[in-house]
Amino acid sequence: MACLSIKGLRSGYGNIEVLKGISIDVNAGEIVTLIGANGAGKTTLLMTICGSPRASSGEILFNDCNVVAKATHEIMGLGISHSPEGRRIFPHMTVLENLQLGSFTKHFSEKRLRHVYDLFPVLYERKQQRGGTLSGGEQQMLAIGRAFMARPQLLLLDEPSLGLAPLMVKRIFEAINEINEVHGTAILLVEQNALQALRLANRGYVLVNGKILLAGSGKELLTNKDIQKAYLEGA
Ligand code: ATP
Repeated sequence: MACLSIKGLRSGYGNIEVLKGISIDVNAGEIVTLIGANGAGKTTLLMTICGSPRASSGEILFNDCNVVAKATHEIMGLGISHSPEGRRIFPHMTVLENLQLGSFTKHFSEKRLRHVYDLFPVLYERKQQRGGTLSGGEQQMLAIGRAFMARPQLLLLDEPSLGLAPLMVKRIFEAINEINEVHGTAILLVEQNALQALRLANRGYVLVNGKILLAGSGKELLTNKDIQKAYLEGA
């Protein structure tokens, strides 16, 4: 059953239309990846799901409730969390304070905090350290951990591996898998690292100039010659 079902979504900035009628589904407990070149509209899609920018038309159904006109905090309160591109952690706050803020739409849960520390033990070691002093990879862990603190049913992850060293990329992908497998969280993953993302995902969509060009299982897309040529060569 789809927990997220997007139909005919159009969105953009001012009179620039970026998403030109997108329809995608994410089923409960599934990892779905969205791949596409720079500027295809991947980030805009995740942001539109969160209510900013607003969709100009179309539907965003979350558990059959159309959230398209809801405020961002209401959408988060329903069970969607967003780890944005560029991490956007609060650099002057401690690791712990960043994580506490992640649960602002729900009551704070010590149990969930322990889950975050189990996923990323380095965050426990550095819980009193300011977020801005962490390495890039640790900041990415903090961004994912903060989003996970809200106990989402659906986690939106925007470019979690961007700019990270291979070992850290591996660790981040393992954590995404664990969040999905152990906690049953559905994940919509935007990635430039198409190879890793398609290996991990149950299904994928290819976004080109604001439209879905292709959809299939991770395996189908990995073996598709056009996808290999456009997104996987050299990977
Ligand atoms: P990338 O991987 O480079 O982030 P993307 O697929 O996530 O690419 P978006 O960031 O969604 O793409 O951008 C899609 C288009 O919207 C681009 O042409 C971009 O210049 C434009 N755009 C993004 N943010 C804004 C904004 N705040 N105002 C105006 N145009 C924007």
